This record gives sequence, C-alpha cells and structure tokens, in this order.
Amino acid sequence: MSDNKLTPRQTDFSDWYNQLVIRAELADYAPVRGCMVVRPYGWALWENIQQALDKRFKETGHVNAAFPLFIPMSFLEKEKEHVEGFSPELAIVTIGGGEKLEEPLVVRPTSETIIGSMYSKWIQSYRDLPILINQWGNVVRWELRTKLFLRTLEFYWQEGHTAHANEQEAREETLRMLQIYTDFAVNEAAVPVIPGIKSQSEKFAGAIMSTTIEAMMQDTRALQSGTSHFLGQNFSKAFNIQFLDESNTLQYAWTTSWGLSTRFIGAIIMTHGDDQGLILPPRLAPLQVIIVPILKTDQDASAVMQTALKIKMELLDAGIRVKIDDRTEVTPGYKFNDWELRGVPLRIEIGPKDVQQGTVMTARRDKPGREGKENIPQGQIAEAVRLLLEDIQRSLLERATSFRNSHIVEPKDYDELVQAIQTGWGFAYWCESEACEQKLKEETKATTRCIPLDPPSGPGTCIICGKRAERKVYIAKSY
Ligand SMILES: [Zn+2]
Repeated sequence: MSDNKLTPRQTDFSDWYNQLVIRAELADYAPVRGCMVVRPYGWALWENIQQALDKRFKETGHVNAAFPLFIPMSFLEKEKEHVEGFSPELAIVTIGGGEKLEEPLVVRPTSETIIGSMYSKWIQSYRDLPILINQWGNVVRWELRTKLFLRTLEFYWQEGHTAHANEQEAREETLRMLQIYTDFAVNEAAVPVIPGIKSQSEKFAGAIMSTTIEAMMQDTRALQSGTSHFLGQNFSKAFNIQFLDESNTLQYAWTTSWGLSTRFIGAIIMTHGDDQGLILPPRLAPLQVIIVPILKTDQDASAVMQTALKIKMELLDAGIRVKIDDRTEVTPGYKFNDWELRGVPLRIEIGPKDVQQGTVMTARRDKPGREGKENIPQGQIAEAVRLLLEDIQRSLLERATSFRNSHIVEPKDYDELVQAIQTGWGFAYWCESEACEQKLKEETKATTRCIPLDPPSGPGTCIICGKRAERKVYIAKSY
C-alpha cells in the first residue's frame, strides 16, 4: 500500500489536496484546460450541500427559478464597475448556428444583469416587492490559474437575487443570507467560518457592500467560502427596476445578491482531511456508514452477510446513509483504506465472532487506530450509530475551531503581523485605506479578509500606518 499513500500534508499541502480530489473520485480534470468534471461521489456531496442550503432558503421565503446561460454583452456594460470587474474573465459567444451574431453573448459569469432586466419588467408597484429568487446553476469565469473545486473555468453554485422597497430591508436581507451561510457552514459542514464585511477593494464588482464567510484551511490560508452583497440601487438604476411606492411616487428598488459554490467542497476537504484522505462531516457525507464484512472462510459468509444486511436495514430505517462493501476481490484491509480515503465518517466491521457475540466493531474516521474503535451490541445499533455520528460531527467542529483559534494572532506591530501571517492569520486594527491594504499585499502577499460584524470596541491605531483606526480586520494569505 505504501506506493498508494497520499503526499503528507506537511510535505506539500497543495499536492496532498490535488491527489486527494482525484483519488477519492470527487472530481477529475476535463479535456478543456481549467474545467472540472464533478464525479458521482463529489456530486452526491454537492447535492447534500444543496439540500441543506435550499431548505434554509425556502424557510426564509425564497423561491427557485432558472434564468438563461447567455447574456447580451450590452447588459454587462450597463453597470460600469460590474463590467470592469468581470470583463477579463468573460467567455463570449460570437457565432451561433453558423452565423455571426449581431450582438455577442456572454456566458454568464453571474446573473445580476439578466435577472435585473427581468425584474424591471416584473416590478411595477410596492406590492410586487420583495422578490426573493434563487437559482441553482453553473457560471463561467475564464480563470488563468485553476485548481479543482477552488477555482475552475466553470463551476456550480446558487445565486440569490432579491429586490426590496427600501434600503433597510435590502441590508437586512444581505445579513440574513450571511447568517444562513454561517449557520450552514458551522452546523452542517463543521467548518468554523468567520462572517464579516469585505474591504472596498475586495468587494464584488458593482456592490455597495460585500459580506463573506472566511474559513481557515489547514495550511492556514483563508478561503472565501460564500458571499452576500448589498447592491444598493446600482443595478436597479442600470436596469430601470422602478416601482410606485405607497404614496404613488416612482422609486428605484434596492437589490442584493448572494452565492455559495462548489468551492465549498474545497473548504470541507482542507478543513477536515488528514494524511489518509478525506474526513467528511456526517451531516453532509454521501455515505455516513460503511459496513465491511470480515470473511475468513466460506462457512462464515452467509451468517456474516445476513447480520450485515440486517444491520444495514436497521440503519436505513433510521434514515442513516449506509452501504455494505461486499466486494470479494479485495481484502478487508484494502477496503478500510479505501473508505478512509473517501472520508466515510463511520465504519462497521462484522466478523464471525461478532455474529456469535451479537456485537459489531465500529471505527470512527476522525480518530485513527484503537482510539476510535468501539465494540457495540447489535441490539440498539441505530441509536448507537446516531450518537456516534453526532459525536463525530461535534468533534470535527471542535477540532477545526481550536485549530483556527490557535492560528489567529493579534500582533502588536507591523513586524509581528508579518511574522504572524507566515503561519496563520492576523487580527488587527486597520485604517481602512486602500494605500495600507496595497502596501500589505505587496510586502506580504496577504490581504484583508473581513471585518467582523461585531468588532471589538475601537478606536485603535492602524497596524500598517499607525493612524487612527475604528475597526479590526482579519489579515491572511488566501486561496
Ligand atoms: Zn493605515
């Protein structure tokens, strides 16, 4: 098996990640450079992410719809910052059906413009507001440096687009969705993200304010894992989204947009994985339990398989995602490694002895070796497994949170900040000037990640220039 081991994280984190994505069969490289094929196991994980988010969106009054992949080029040009931000990454169709198109079509990099144009048609009166629409789909951004899940030419995501009658509602919506992303990340994915506000230079092209959830990966780089934007009236003015308010005055609507993508799979991999492979949080894992029958002789086979089937049925009845690995061409040891690589949270081993004694052996993915093993009676298997899965979920979050906290430094001066961001994040006062941000980026390659929503009470002095600063910001190298 030694040839098959992943490059250890300590040796080369990036290499570890690339190998893991391929070998766990989450995704593969596509024939077009920079594109990704999401394989069934990766897609099953994405489906669970979708379900967890979709449920939250609908609970807060949102509905799903589908808008076209193609957007007239002129639409993007209507919002100046938007087109400037996205034009280097656009894929543009100029020929259709063998003929040169009168107007080039952009393959959507995001859908504010086309949805804005439809909203201008649908919204006439304050009674038409708010509109709370989400779309699940794919977008294309022509990235030069790509990495599976983290940055690919085409990726899958959801994008929410809402329109409101006043500024306050739109701002509330922006923060509500940030809260939903935070809740999803922490409670479903066990990824302890930090929610906050993006700096002006890091915000979405065309937004007044962008908010983000930032996660710390095991190499301590930050990963922006979901964003929610307050767009003010920028897009409603560009697309003429106007309505008559209660006093019959024509007003521009206030809009928001928010998105979370397949990039989040990268966050899960790099938050929880170890040198054996993936470790999936039970709530999102496509398979929560893998049953491995241990067959020493042919006589064992039928009794062991019968017990395995019985346990599988009980777990399925309890709503647990479970499978029996009944392959005969590979050894149990091979199967253990294989499912560890794929990050299945819990393994159940059943051998002839277990059949006799009415027990099974469980092995937790998050705790290697004997420490994670437990002999449990078959009697209350479903309840025991449920508790184990909950405990794994909890311990993954605890582990990731303590890793994150122990890698955040509050530096006392600029030199200490420079030191800190070699091995973690800095959290320091910043005057919020672009000059300081630029200096930081040039000298350290680190960027401001987010200003937390509830900052410690200021003022202080900017860690970069020493001038007065109101708020603290997280600073880190990022993906
Ligand atoms: Zn400064």
